[in-house]
Amino acid sequence: MTSTVDHIATNAITEREHYRMLIGGRWVEASDGARFDSINPFDGRHWADVPTATGQDVDAAVRAAREAFENGPWAASTPAQRSAVLRKLGDLIAANADELARIQVLENGKLIREVGGQTRALSGHCYFYAGVAETMHGQTVASSVPNMHVFTVREPIGVVAAITPWNSPLALLLWKLCPALAAGNTVVIKPSEVTPVSTVKLGELITAAGIPDGVVNIVTGAGPTGAALAGHPGVDKVAFTGSTAVGKAIAVTTAERLARVSLELGGKSPNIVFPDADTANTVNGVIAGVFAATGQTCMAGSRVLVHQDIYDEFAEALAARVRTIRIGDPLDPETEMGTVACRPQYEKVLSYIEIAESEGATLLAGGRKPSDPALAAGLFVEPAVFTGVTNDMRIAQEEVFGPVVVLIPFADEDDAVRIANDTRFGLAAGVWTNDIARALRMVRRLRAGTVWVNNYRKTNYVAPFGGFKESGIGRENGADAVNEYTELKTVWIDMGNKITDPFNPRA
Ligand code: NAD
Repeated sequence: MTSTVDHIATNAITEREHYRMLIGGRWVEASDGARFDSINPFDGRHWADVPTATGQDVDAAVRAAREAFENGPWAASTPAQRSAVLRKLGDLIAANADELARIQVLENGKLIREVGGQTRALSGHCYFYAGVAETMHGQTVASSVPNMHVFTVREPIGVVAAITPWNSPLALLLWKLCPALAAGNTVVIKPSEVTPVSTVKLGELITAAGIPDGVVNIVTGAGPTGAALAGHPGVDKVAFTGSTAVGKAIAVTTAERLARVSLELGGKSPNIVFPDADTANTVNGVIAGVFAATGQTCMAGSRVLVHQDIYDEFAEALAARVRTIRIGDPLDPETEMGTVACRPQYEKVLSYIEIAESEGATLLAGGRKPSDPALAAGLFVEPAVFTGVTNDMRIAQEEVFGPVVVLIPFADEDDAVRIANDTRFGLAAGVWTNDIARALRMVRRLRAGTVWVNNYRKTNYVAPFGGFKESGIGRENGADAVNEYTELKTVWIDMGNKITDPFNPRA
């Protein structure tokens, strides 16, 4: 893994690394030479830099993807060939998982112990869609029109733009890349400006896997680069994960030309605790559900609804454990919570803590910058627990995307459902109860793309994931996700009907 780096420092911790972007199989600078930095949120170091793609670079990447889609080896590839390169990519990810994980931690401050496991699991993602590539198929249609053979085929859409966020840069990219490639599309990737390097390093593995030039391109840059890509007339589909605000802007842009779009957006997910649930188990599940990745996950269970009979006891048990969460160096396997990923997000989290206090919520634990001088350079916020929250407060309605949880009491099942669904989001929900009938009733009534019962935040390539309401459009993961990257073509074959003159049927 060396081709993108001009100069690999002998000690990557103190010297800056320089990377290029991937267009048409070549590692290139921006057309105007501009670059931007990747900043380590733990110590503030500007540890690497990458090109800032111009509109011209975006255009070149889309053209390269178009050329690879229409001509060359990929255009003629068989499912078995696409399956083989996906398997090879999976092998390479497995062999380089530790390095890919370390880079993600340098970029976004997520825990090595979490990112390590997540990154190692990504090879399974490649292998799963390698299988899907060889098993995807259309259908024979039972035709009621005599003497007609009717069938459908699934064809690739064309050039896919994959625009990704910073919280799980490689996982959320592979959720798009694998099904897109399995179906035979070509791709232009635009990673978050906070986490570009991990994607560029994955690009080296993509090249090494034998994926032909131009099939996968990477342009690095911030919002304007993403907007130029989403708005490019040569892009047939945009697959986006990020904020609801940007997702809506992309939906408008793509609607102009009716390009296909799938959106994985924000959430404010309810995690509902009934009195019959095991308290210790639930406290652990709720903490993992909201404070993993320093609360920076779309599915964070950030609204915890607690039955009023156990509210005080549960809040105390939760706060007691939260006060002991070990904050520190995300590369230390003993650390339990890392930093917020970047300064704008850090300021946003702190501002929401102020908003919650000004709304009258009570800060039961955390919510301050840690006093330990060893952590002074890092973007740390102590995990915050708020009580005295009502569901109409901004802190209960708006996505913080940080280590902040609010506890809201409810009276009974109807009340829990009403509060849980009283949100513009619908990404996920959790239910904690030992009553199976109650769990099933809740599952039916919750308006969310995923419901976890007595667990939270599980995902896997076999299980579809996506949002109701303003949490998105479409689903990722699962075998059907490949259909999000195909057009359905219907074919009618006449098996010998006599075709009459349409204007003179008696002739
Ligand atoms: P963001 O919307 O700010 O940015 C996401 C990506 O879009 C980045 O690559 C960014 O550069 C690009 N972008 C910004 N403006 C753009 C524009 N006008 N046109 C095109 N692209 C543009 O989101 P973020 O802060 O990187 O990520 C956090 C958000 O992502 C949260 O809201 C979170 O809930 C959401 N998220 C959702 C899921 C999911 O699966 N539903 C998963 C992870 C994160």
